[in-house]
Amino acid sequence: MIKMTLYNMDLEKVCKKINSKNAKTVGLQFPEGLKMQSIQIARIIEENTDAEVIISADPCFGACDVSDSKMKNHVDLIIHYGHTPLPLKYDVPVYFVEAYSNIKIKPILDEALKKIKNYSKIALVTTTQHLNVLNEIKDYLEDNGKEVILGSSKSTKKGQILGCNFSSIKNLDAEIFLFIGSGNFHPLGIHLFTKQKVLAIDPYNNDIREMDEYSDRILRIRFARIIKAREAKKWGIIVSSKEGQYRMKLAKKIKKQLQDEGMEAYILIVDNLNPDILLPYMELDGFVVTACPRIAIDDSQMYKKPLLTPKELEIVLNKRDWDNYQLDEILFHEKYN
Ligand code: SF4
Repeated sequence: MIKMTLYNMDLEKVCKKINSKNAKTVGLQFPEGLKMQSIQIARIIEENTDAEVIISADPCFGACDVSDSKMKNHVDLIIHYGHTPLPLKYDVPVYFVEAYSNIKIKPILDEALKKIKNYSKIALVTTTQHLNVLNEIKDYLEDNGKEVILGSSKSTKKGQILGCNFSSIKNLDAEIFLFIGSGNFHPLGIHLFTKQKVLAIDPYNNDIREMDEYSDRILRIRFARIIKAREAKKWGIIVSSKEGQYRMKLAKKIKKQLQDEGMEAYILIVDNLNPDILLPYMELDGFVVTACPRIAIDDSQMYKKPLLTPKELEIVLNKRDWDNYQLDEILFHEKYN
């Protein structure tokens, strides 16, 4: 078996799946961080099965973005790497390979234990990449006298969180949340969603961060955007054409709300949003993004006009209090209702 550097790519299982489905053409899709391995994986698949491989070279940020509609006339099966399945309907059979990280977590856990010495009830949360070691971490914390809680939901596995869906941590009775993984967006979301203390443990950078300060900084930026957006009279409402992010109903509701307030509003549908895409629409004063909730928060500095989430627009329109600030969520299991 070929062992990939940081991630376990489960190639034997993938080849078996392709053979069992008798697939003649297979689509491969990877998140950005795994794309460098795509040629090596395509080579192994073509050498070990009768299938021809087509690699999706488009950006892919989540299981919300399976390239089934683009590939449906070209492939019998899609192998989608790096994400867990969401409750979505696909045009082509999709086999998800979760691509777990092989990075060692134990050394940084020892450090984290010192920081949580005054807490006994811990909620443990992670992203797909570390789900494979979650039980091991749980055992380790329990061996050190902690009570460990793992939440779950219809859109996630036990202990897993998505950047756009926090249902797995709703109403968890914990004193502190331990997030295992990289980046600030997920632990920020946990902090804003639960209003609880969150410790982000990043095994890649060997770094442990408390989220309070970062959260205050982001909230200050969001507050400034919301104030600026209060001057807006003409709005663009962005809808993503990606199946998992597509929220046209919400966009139409927002358009009506804005029009009821005497403002102009136009719906724009787009696959991958970036600042250049919006350049022809600078006549508009602000944008509401119904696509991935991360875009408005993570990328807003790149945009000339305020980019808000639907929940932030509620604050602009005085339908939500600033004190009740929440990140936007996509409720995948309700998408087809
Ligand atoms: S919508 Fe955004 S946060 Fe949610 S799964 Fe897709 S890329 Fe991730």
